[in-house]
Amino acid sequence: MKAKTKAVVVGAGLGGLATAIRLLAAGHEVTVVERRGQIGGRASRLRDAGYTWDMGPSLITLPWLLDELFAVAGTRLADELTLRALDPFYRIYWEDDPRWFDFAGDRDRMLAEVGRFSTTDAGRYDAFMEASRRIHEEGILVAGRRPFLRAADFAPLVPTMVRLGALRTLGGFVARYFDEPHVRQAFDFHSLFIGGDPFRVPAIYAALGYLQVADGVWYADGGVYALVEALGRLVERGGGTIVTGRRVEAIETVDRRVRGVRLAGGERIEADLIVSNADATSTRRRLLEPAVPDAVPWRWRRPRQTMSCYLLYLGTTRSFPRLLHHTLFVGSDYRAFIRDVTATRRVSDSLSLYVHAPARTEPAMAVPGGDALTILLPVPNLASGDDWSVRGPELRDRVVAFLEGPGGLDGLSGSIAIEHCWTPADFRRELEAPLGNAFATEPVLWQSAYFRQPNRDRVVAGLYYVGAGTHPGGGIPGVLLGAGVTAEVIEADRREGRVGGALNRRR
Ligand SMILES: Cc1cc2nc3c(=O)[nH]c(=O)nc-3n(C[C@H](O)[C@H](O)[C@H](O)COP(=O)(O)OP(=O)(O)OC[C@H]3O[C@@H](n4cnc5c(N)ncnc54)[C@H](O)[C@@H]3O)c2cc1C
Repeated sequence: MKAKTKAVVVGAGLGGLATAIRLLAAGHEVTVVERRGQIGGRASRLRDAGYTWDMGPSLITLPWLLDELFAVAGTRLADELTLRALDPFYRIYWEDDPRWFDFAGDRDRMLAEVGRFSTTDAGRYDAFMEASRRIHEEGILVAGRRPFLRAADFAPLVPTMVRLGALRTLGGFVARYFDEPHVRQAFDFHSLFIGGDPFRVPAIYAALGYLQVADGVWYADGGVYALVEALGRLVERGGGTIVTGRRVEAIETVDRRVRGVRLAGGERIEADLIVSNADATSTRRRLLEPAVPDAVPWRWRRPRQTMSCYLLYLGTTRSFPRLLHHTLFVGSDYRAFIRDVTATRRVSDSLSLYVHAPARTEPAMAVPGGDALTILLPVPNLASGDDWSVRGPELRDRVVAFLEGPGGLDGLSGSIAIEHCWTPADFRRELEAPLGNAFATEPVLWQSAYFRQPNRDRVVAGLYYVGAGTHPGGGIPGVLLGAGVTAEVIEADRREGRVGGALNRRR
């Protein structure tokens, strides 16, 4: 019989919860410690005055990854959660063009949509999708399930990615197939959902558009937070403990092996292995004692963090027919907007934003006849030096004016019954994102796979990582895949005697 090992998961984000479920199924004793009062991390929930908002993620993709995870816990997704397919997935409006683009899974409808902008581009849609499919299958589904602990693990992937054209930029990849600017934007914006600048991230992220077409875009009744709650239930049903409202202050080590965690207030929890779902950069910089060196110090000192987001949560007394469940508004100078947010690091003069209106699908998310709108505006992270107590209110007014004007949501400002916001300062204060970044370290090539935070620490035995800042990366599918990778690395280490109660008892 395998010896029981004590595992502590630091952080109850989706990646932390998914790892806890897998570790419990593998027979570990698991305690999840979350600093906030509610679990879910970026996928948290806000409720006020009859409105419910998912505060972060809203699109569920690759639902079969959830099937897999729920099966690990001995249950079925359908028994725990109701998922509904959205059709179309979202609508894209442009400030500089009266046409819109409905993004959907059906090939003929997509051909018609692209064709309304360019018949030449419509003729290249199948080739684009086929190239994206190959990237998805080899770049995400294969590489996303593998740890890249050694450079040697990564080397064989390079020729494949070169052959698939996945190492050019996403923007460059899309531009090989499509000429019309609106069509290009409809197919290159997806990386923004994980904080990737389409003109800097590799074309591996063409997979993000493809996987939607292949497997759909889904909504969970109750919102993404219903998924978080379901995962929390599975942890507890599996015998795990979730402690909320307690910050892990330090990961304690002896001779470069984890010994346990120290919580704010001084309490200690002993552990044979620790999985950090906290921000990957902050874990090494703030939770490990300074005496513990890193294998690649240059990389840890200056990892590039993603952009941030300004999020506005509006409860309105009426609904807006121009909004679908998901709607994107692309401003007139999209390229400058992206550059400002990710490279120049300034709040842009141009706005491009995304609106989530879940009451379209589930009316109970808002008061009768109203909408619970989440408005997401990408903004620079705190490296911009902005004071968000000043910037926030300024942007709030610009966003509402934009939606009411070019966005066409007539009467928006007069219908707001209640509102809340979340800024880069909240990402730093609440989630310990070092630069108030919304999506962990940037998913650029030199911070991906072997070059991303590894799933197992390269120096400290018994320390593992999961979540958006680690391999394979962000997004719900990314962190679920990552939980599988981390759990498998732990299992292999246990088989080889690198973690376990026996080791601890010997100390
Ligand atoms: C605005 C927004 C919209 C998004 N939209 C989508 C979308 O539509 N679809 C999609 O697939 N993805 C989306 N994403 C990405 C997705 O939400 C994230 O990649 C994913 O939720 C991150 O999960 P994680 O496992 O990295 O944990 P996180 O959510 O980062 O959670 C980490 C947890 O660790 C806790 N923690 C940190 N430090 C400590 C400590 N010292 N002690 C104890 N606990 C600690 C934090 O409080 C937090 O709860 C979006 C993200 C954002 C921000």
